[in-house]
Amino acid sequence: MRHFPVFVDLRGQRVVVSGAGEMAAAKLRLLMKTEAEIAVFASNPADIVAAWAAEDRISLHTRPIADGDATGARLLYAINQDAAEDARAAAIGRSAGALVNVVDDLEGSQFISPAIVDRDPVTVAIGTEGAAPVLARSIKAQIEELLGTSLGVLARIGQGLRGAARAVMFGDPRRRLWETFYEDVGPAALRDGGEAAAMAALDRLIAEHRLEDRPRGRVTIVGAGPGDPDLLTLRARRALHRADVVIHDRLVPGEVLELARREAVIVEVGKEPGGPSWSQEDINALMVEHASGGAQVVRLKSGDPGIYGRLDEELDALDAAGIAYEIVPGVTAALAAAAAIKVSLTRRHRNSGMRLLTGQDIGGFAEHDWHGLARPGAVAAVYMGVRAARFLQGRLMIHGASADMPVTAVENAARATQKVVATSLGRLAEALADNGVAGPAILFLGLAPRAALAEVERLPAQAVGAH
Ligand code: SAH
Repeated sequence: MRHFPVFVDLRGQRVVVSGAGEMAAAKLRLLMKTEAEIAVFASNPADIVAAWAAEDRISLHTRPIADGDATGARLLYAINQDAAEDARAAAIGRSAGALVNVVDDLEGSQFISPAIVDRDPVTVAIGTEGAAPVLARSIKAQIEELLGTSLGVLARIGQGLRGAARAVMFGDPRRRLWETFYEDVGPAALRDGGEAAAMAALDRLIAEHRLEDRPRGRVTIVGAGPGDPDLLTLRARRALHRADVVIHDRLVPGEVLELARREAVIVEVGKEPGGPSWSQEDINALMVEHASGGAQVVRLKSGDPGIYGRLDEELDALDAAGIAYEIVPGVTAALAAAAAIKVSLTRRHRNSGMRLLTGQDIGGFAEHDWHGLARPGAVAAVYMGVRAARFLQGRLMIHGASADMPVTAVENAARATQKVVATSLGRLAEALADNGVAGPAILFLGLAPRAALAEVERLPAQAVGAH
């Protein structure tokens, strides 16, 4: 290790920057986050740098740096994008006893700047000894993703209540208190009610942890999206990373489950035809049992938990048992399917609204407002509709829908096995059967894939009429 990382206290310290172009502006943007007294020397400052000077955020001298300008400076940055001028500035800095950095010149620099992830007061600095700036940037991106944007605020709140937290036994109990606050309760409270709520939540947690030597469990109900792990939200990933128990539906694929901690207990509660079947009551009881035992439970549902996911029943059970929960939304199948066929679900002058329907409910095939759905331009996404295809066809046509109404089935949207079948209402059942559509699929009523539309629009008017 040639460069040793340290965090320098710049409060009230003089920092000198020679140069005021775009690159210098980028550096100044970072330096202005500190409480340093920043002096900039440059004959032709960029507008933004002049604006900062006008706001008194830096002091700007519109001339080249000269002997004596670096007196008393802690750090000096030479960012003139001109080797000779940088060397001159560096010499002035060194003779004044400042640590010097010449941008993009490792040998000419006494210190180098890391890539920074800023969650003040938490700062992550990433250095590669200048060997691989691109790598540093990609590591930075990964860490940015890992650390929620609320981390800084939470760290400050934690700092404020550090004294109060001493009431919780040192060791495991206190460690668990902070883990629960930073990873779970804190971010949720901050989202729901801002800083005051996060502070109150920490107060409550401290009180709870003082009384109990075991933390309360919680349930996070997570939307897993349509299947591709890339379509999970960051919040869903974080919940999976810290889960003790993951209770998931059959439609959640293995790639998503792999994101759970290695030690997590994974329970599938799908209703496999012919296989062991879980009743909703059993699923509720399982969640309650684990959370009551102190586990962090993730209830993972395909798509969004609030769409055909029996969410309310699970929330009722958790409320009845007095267990805290949070809901993480997910990309629902209809949205992934629409993206797959590159269409907009609403369109000016065609449909100002669209519906989500289910093909089946507890009583069998589901009834809907067929009249509205049959109207030209109406758009609907039908979930669980494959087996109801003939029924949908019959009901819609009785209510006046045209046999030519475009219908598109998207099977396994956002998965490797994705299949699109574009057809018409009149041919729907046959088209699904002919193409072997059997898996989870969305049926779009009133929508054709963009590719098909473009084809129709490209044809001369009389040919369209002949279709
Ligand atoms: N909560 C889920 C829906 C659960 S109901 C969501 O928001 O997506 C199950 C139905 O969702 C399936 O019968 C099918 O119609 C649809 N579905 C789920 N995943 C799908 C996928 N990857 N592609 C197409 N349809 C899917």
